[in-house]
Amino acid sequence: MNKPHIALIGLGLIGSSLGHAFKKYELTDHISGYARSPETRARARELGFVDAVHDSAAGAADGADVVFLNVPLSAMAPLAEDIMPVLKSGAVLTDVGSVKQCVLDDILPLLKDGVFLVPGHPIAGTEYSGPDAGFAELFEGRWCILTPPGETNLHAVETVAGLWRDIGSEVEFMDARHHDLVLAITSHLPHLIAFNIVGTAAQLESDTRSAVIKYSASGFRDFTRIAASDPIMWRDIFLKNKEAVLEMLGRFNEDLVALQRAIRHGDADYLQNTFSQTREIRQSVIDAGQDVDAPNFGRDLPSKPDAG
Ligand code: NAP
Repeated sequence: MNKPHIALIGLGLIGSSLGHAFKKYELTDHISGYARSPETRARARELGFVDAVHDSAAGAADGADVVFLNVPLSAMAPLAEDIMPVLKSGAVLTDVGSVKQCVLDDILPLLKDGVFLVPGHPIAGTEYSGPDAGFAELFEGRWCILTPPGETNLHAVETVAGLWRDIGSEVEFMDARHHDLVLAITSHLPHLIAFNIVGTAAQLESDTRSAVIKYSASGFRDFTRIAASDPIMWRDIFLKNKEAVLEMLGRFNEDLVALQRAIRHGDADYLQNTFSQTREIRQSVIDAGQDVDAPNFGRDLPSKPDAG
């Protein structure tokens, strides 16, 4: 079978990483790309992870076998609408958005006959954005969750799954709503907590704030890494996964109040039991290969050891 023509709409962290990975594994004869700003388009040409950079999304999608939407969630439907007239019969439209039910709700009604939608979400990323942030190995050993609607063509699903597997990901299929609930607790809530705690520190008066930064290695630093993630991307995630995030936030608040009560009443057993359980979860994450069992999360900062 001929190698596919792939179009990358959005050339930031995820789009550029896909381009590098598809080239590394020689999975395509042609990669066309589009980004919104002339600066990103110029940078993509310099970096060479696409073969042709177009000034319009439709120009990049024209003639493509597989089109990846790698843009913030709020930009997906307008771009899908732009490219729909030029998509050829049999084309597969996929995306990498961090929330999945909204992609089905927003894009399914726009599909024309003969174009298939296979939404996806790579569970891989960094806190960096833009075309310079991408690298071919980003998806290696990481999950990619696909949430195809029931009626999607099986060949289209296998095409998208095959590309992810070929760049090193493990593919899992899930119902979109279930995906959004799972990601609300594993990704969205941790980010909300990080944005909140770093925001709280930012409001402190300047003496205290300086000390917080100086002694940040005691834990705060790890929240700042997460809280440095792209504001537009995260704005969209919370707006598009509202119900699931509010559900998990409700449970979180109840558990936080229980901890607050245990501290107030000196309930040592409750505190110790809770922290013992969470330590076991950490071990399960390592056992599942989702992190390394190295001090300091594997960071190489020998001159500044982590504080307790
Ligand atoms: P990114 O580095 O900020 O890149 C976003 C790209 O989308 C850029 O090329 C940008 O163009 C383009 N874009 C932004 N707004 C647009 C608009 N309104 N219309 C057209 N193009 C627009 O973001 P990313 O990290 O690659 O994230 C892309 C998607 O991947 C998001 O949906 C996110 O939820 C998902 N995702 C991210 C991660 C992660 O860790 N970052 C992980 C998994 C999934 P310009 O550069 O020209 O502005």
